[in-house]
Amino acid sequence: MIVVMRPGATQQQVSEVQRVVEAHGLEAFVSLGDERTVIGVVGSDVERVAHLGTLPGVDQVIRVSSPYKLASLQDQADRTRVRVDSLDVGAGHQMVVIAGPCAVESREQLLDTARWVRREGARMLRGGTFKPRTSPYAFQGLGLPALRLLAEARQETGLPVVSEVVDPSHVEEFDEHVDVLQVGARNMHNFVLLRAVGQSRRPVLLKRGLSATIEEWLLAAEYILSAGNPNVILCERGIRTFETATRNTLDLSAVPVMRSKTHLPIMVDPSHGTGQRHLVGPMALAGAAVGADGLLIEVHPDPPNARSDGDQSLGFDEFGQLMDELRRLHFVRRESEGEGEVTVAAPMEIAAGVDEVRHRIDDLDARLIGLLQERAALAVEVQRRRGPDGHGHDVRRERELLRRAAEGANGPIPPSELTAIFGAVLRASRSAQRRFVQDSHSADATRKP
Ligand code: PEP
Ligand code: MN
Repeated sequence: MIVVMRPGATQQQVSEVQRVVEAHGLEAFVSLGDERTVIGVVGSDVERVAHLGTLPGVDQVIRVSSPYKLASLQDQADRTRVRVDSLDVGAGHQMVVIAGPCAVESREQLLDTARWVRREGARMLRGGTFKPRTSPYAFQGLGLPALRLLAEARQETGLPVVSEVVDPSHVEEFDEHVDVLQVGARNMHNFVLLRAVGQSRRPVLLKRGLSATIEEWLLAAEYILSAGNPNVILCERGIRTFETATRNTLDLSAVPVMRSKTHLPIMVDPSHGTGQRHLVGPMALAGAAVGADGLLIEVHPDPPNARSDGDQSLGFDEFGQLMDELRRLHFVRRESEGEGEVTVAAPMEIAAGVDEVRHRIDDLDARLIGLLQERAALAVEVQRRRGPDGHGHDVRRERELLRRAAEGANGPIPPSELTAIFGAVLRASRSAQRRFVQDSHSADATRKP
């Protein structure tokens, strides 16, 4: 912290600042200038003298290090990966789409939505149980019974569930039934609630307050971290500005700004961020493009009749189209299918029309290229870890793969052709490993004198 004295401040005023600093167990370094004197304050908790600006002769107090120690990238260079069940969020992991209704309205509404969003590639299910509505007369949510419905939806679909907790006394009950506790925008400044979720064993999705600055938002995260919960995911959901054409102004620059300030994962909620269905898709893509670790999207089986936030909820088809687009642009991948078992999409599931089918084929081809390159890159990584003298491939596993290919799947490619394809894939990965070894040998040779 730097204390800048006013021009003409007296020696007595400078000494008083020094005395107060030292009385708090901190050190003061006085630097006398021709016009002004500045005092550097150092110590483990300079916030104790945050009131120095009130002393006579002090012009301003400038903070040098961030007030949010635990959330700051200054103090933890490794990005935080938040694990939700078997899913990783943040730290460069694949972008995660969380989808579901604004509010849980009924068993049928929730389960239909859960099945649909899972089918389309969402990795978590959302659903509000307590809705902090602007009007006390609006639907307030089904309350605690909805938690059981969420648990049932998780049980059936395998999707971890996210729900907003509004009351500190509910945290224990939420811990039991949901996988991620959401703190909503209206509660970002509810410090009692922040401390309570800080004591939860579940990760917390912390929405940005309606009028919160980035620093206030990070300090809210700091409340949770300092209460002992390291698993915080931030979520930009739009802020209130003078603009009335959209429900909120989705501040997408918050994503790269947060990247430069904190190691915590950051998601984007284009539903609350825009408030209008037709804007959700474009802003979801923009959020993905700017590097969000995840998207939070409201989806409802019948948006016009939703009990809350119908205007901004996507119908099933719209959500499917958005997921297709996110896949086409490689922001998300299809969830890997069951171990060793290959399932083939039934042609009936593919929308009619030759163009649509061709579009899907192009989409698949693009993904196959990406997957093959990813496979080869992983093979090279195995080789790197085994060192130049070790074998990067494991013949037993390769044989097993070829055997599975030979058994074939229930699709149109016969087993012999599948075996040939996988044989080529294995050869390509092995040559990538060999090139890697040769390149490291020649790099070594040029380094030797
Ligand atoms: C919500 O996600 O349902 C919600 C109420 O969001 P926010 O707190 O961002 O308004
Ligand atoms: Mn909502």
